[in-house]
Amino acid sequence: MRGFLGLAAFAAALALAGPAMAAALPFDPDVATREWLATMDEAARARSDSYFEGGYWIQFVGPVIGFIVAFAFLQLGFAKNIRSWLEKNVKIYFFVVVLFAIVYTLIGAVLSFGWDYWVGFVRQHDYNLSTQTFSQWFIEYLQGFGISLLIGSLAIGLLYLIIAVAKKTWWIWGTIASLAFAAVIGMLAPVYIAPIFNHYNPMPESALRESVLEIAQANGVPTNDVLVYDRSRQTNSVSANVSGFGETTRISLADTLLQRESPGGVRAVLGHEIGHYVLQHTVSLLVMNALLIVVAFGLANFLFNFLSKDERWGIRSVADPAGMPLLFSVIGFIFLLATPINNNITRFHEHQADMFGLNAAREPDGFAESALLLSEYRKMEPTPFEEWFFYDHPSGYARIHMAMVWKAHHMALGDIPMGPGGPPPGWQPDFVTGHPDPRAVGYTAPSDNAAAAPATATLPAETEPSPAAPSN
Ligand SMILES: [Zn+2]
Repeated sequence: MRGFLGLAAFAAALALAGPAMAAALPFDPDVATREWLATMDEAARARSDSYFEGGYWIQFVGPVIGFIVAFAFLQLGFAKNIRSWLEKNVKIYFFVVVLFAIVYTLIGAVLSFGWDYWVGFVRQHDYNLSTQTFSQWFIEYLQGFGISLLIGSLAIGLLYLIIAVAKKTWWIWGTIASLAFAAVIGMLAPVYIAPIFNHYNPMPESALRESVLEIAQANGVPTNDVLVYDRSRQTNSVSANVSGFGETTRISLADTLLQRESPGGVRAVLGHEIGHYVLQHTVSLLVMNALLIVVAFGLANFLFNFLSKDERWGIRSVADPAGMPLLFSVIGFIFLLATPINNNITRFHEHQADMFGLNAAREPDGFAESALLLSEYRKMEPTPFEEWFFYDHPSGYARIHMAMVWKAHHMALGDIPMGPGGPPPGWQPDFVTGHPDPRAVGYTAPSDNAAAAPATATLPAETEPSPAAPSN
């Protein structure tokens, strides 16, 4: 009883302390968040909402086009005929699989090109997010497609070898192999793939460069390398990353980040990226994805066998390349259903990196500035359901609120100077005041030489869906 009374008294004290502590804050974080949000005018907000909400259905249309192509491939008998022709003429199983994958992917790409062009080029220009002409975009599209065709068909060949050997337990071994393959590609991509799309050059000496390195080294990132890459070749959006491990660790900043943000904003973004690195998010993402993939492959195995029983569409077994359109459709379908799970896994890591970054860079206003710039294409204030289902990063509102809570409490602690809560007087994001053309103004890399990019083995701190896709 005494224990209970003590607990009740403690709870009452906590309940009283809550509002009392909030009242002691130098400013109200909710009000400060509203002041930041008010820097984005109605037109910019409507544009951002419409771009992002359009993405809700766009991400489902691509896979649906893939399902239709797969169904036609099976139903019209192309799959079994191509398989039989390849078996007769190529004979070696691995090459039958690889060539089948290449033919199937090429036909699919031709049939969905109109869609890819609209999503990747037309729509990006409609919203003023792309800096590319059609020919620049198309060349990068072909390069990207060629690279994924090469890597993808090799991966598919290996997966089918595993399926043929392991038979009923292929989905377990296939998961392990997929993760190993992804880890190797992740290590090689910054060295061999990223320089195809962008040039990386050392950042010239400056106070900003020094302060970025101070934050990195203070948090145990073993590097002296800060590089700048010409992201403005593809897009206006800001980005950065920390990649590599040990001797090869380096910090890469987008030129757009340096052009568009204040030094505090750049440090805030770097604090976040350093967080991904220090918290070893590549490893935890790999582990969490392993759980997702093993369930997806297991379910796909079951669905595949159910749909292809009695040799429907001429498919003899899961190891038969003629079943590839069906196998990849069921895997794709399961991953589509897992969209919110995937987004929550990613957002969980992004939230951690945000908190780490605030504490490491101690730039709450720079953090709010960055969140606003990213809200050029990410809806600022989603409903809780929207954020839970569709967001792979916290929303702009959530991020700015987090920064303002951090700022108010640290002012109260007395470890940062007192001041107002909201944005600097008169500050507005550049996409409201008039968008810059990053190729015409601003930062120029010291040398335009692709060979300057260091040939080092690296592991990306943050995976990007495609070189032109906005991230962060
Ligand atoms: Zn991130």
